[in-house]
Amino acid sequence: MTITPLMPVYPRCGVRPVRGEGCYLIGEDGRRFLDFASGIAVNALGHGHPHLVKAIADQAATLMHVSNLYGSPQGEHLAQRLVDNSFADTVFFTNSGAEAVECAIKTARRFHYANGNPERFTLITFSNAFHGRTLGTISATNQPKMRDGFEPLLPGFKVVEFGDLDAVKAAMDETTAGFLIEPIQGEGGLKPATPAFLKALRDLADENGLMLILDEVQCGYGRTGTFFAHEQYGVTPDIMAVAKGIGSGFPLGACLATEHAAKGMVAGTHGSTYGGNPLAMAAGEAVLDVMLEPSFFTNVKAMGDRLRSSLEQLIPNHDDLFEEVRGMGLMLGLKLKVDCRAFVAHLRDNHGLLTVGAGENVVRILPPLIIDESHIAEAIEKISAAARDYEVAA
Ligand SMILES: *Cc1c(COP(=O)(O)O)cnc(C)c1O
Repeated sequence: MTITPLMPVYPRCGVRPVRGEGCYLIGEDGRRFLDFASGIAVNALGHGHPHLVKAIADQAATLMHVSNLYGSPQGEHLAQRLVDNSFADTVFFTNSGAEAVECAIKTARRFHYANGNPERFTLITFSNAFHGRTLGTISATNQPKMRDGFEPLLPGFKVVEFGDLDAVKAAMDETTAGFLIEPIQGEGGLKPATPAFLKALRDLADENGLMLILDEVQCGYGRTGTFFAHEQYGVTPDIMAVAKGIGSGFPLGACLATEHAAKGMVAGTHGSTYGGNPLAMAAGEAVLDVMLEPSFFTNVKAMGDRLRSSLEQLIPNHDDLFEEVRGMGLMLGLKLKVDCRAFVAHLRDNHGLLTVGAGENVVRILPPLIIDESHIAEAIEKISAAARDYEVAA
């Protein structure tokens, strides 16, 4: 037997975290890391946030799970808070991002079905998108590493070049149901859509009675300095998938929709055994308690600006390594001129800073949203030192 008990689908690195403290992770061997990866944009409140920990512990002792056959005071309350703070009128809770996107896809298809247009089932999606690892969500991207060997994939997706409006128009036909897009591509290389492009998709959707679905699983929930990234674009979706930061480490996701868009999602059409359980709702409430404090997003914006300008200042000194800084708020990417995986490993192993690689040789910098100046100074010091001895080594 050579296969590992843990299915070997991840190329795991040598860091083996066993404890977290705020913005730091502590490995099995006692080594401390500054965590500017945050579980890939998940741990918005860092590790061990007392309000979140207490909410989960209290709820675990009170009521962890009941079936969705029963009334859900916990779910109703959190859904109402999301409705009050977003474009949406209704919310379906899931356990992950991919499930939230699945619900969004189903909601869009069902909208057209309910309108008597079941032939409108095709979503136009974008090159290098990442929407999750279910069969449905891998069908919505063109990335071979996620799709190869899993065919036949789900019909009903047409992938066009990210940002190419003419390609979108050319792809539209009588089967088009709508558009599915990340306002800022995460895995694909920290690429923000232009405001003009998102606005054009909104207009096309309005003119043709189609659904605009935003995947804000990574860029939503405060990451860019507003509750949702689309607020900064002045574009409102019909349907939106969120996850990652929503539970700050507790597995939780949500599909948000307007009443109009959710027209087909009537009793019996969708479900989830665990989705929206009281424990998850308690985590979601605790995250919102912290995030909806008046200064929270202001701080994300301020820290994002500071981190961005500090990163930009590193570029002239290391222009053989660094090309540009991308992203918004605390969803930042440092585009490299060298292999990003090697540099991410160097930062981690030799300088104790955790970051994440992405497409186009971009180092993703996704700190907890609760960082202060000292964490930024420490990270910049580490990146600067890493750039210096990377050059010596190279
Ligand atoms: C992470 C991610 C997903 C998938 O979320 P899971 O919780 O891993 O299923 C979907 N869309 C985007 C944009 C993501 O970043």
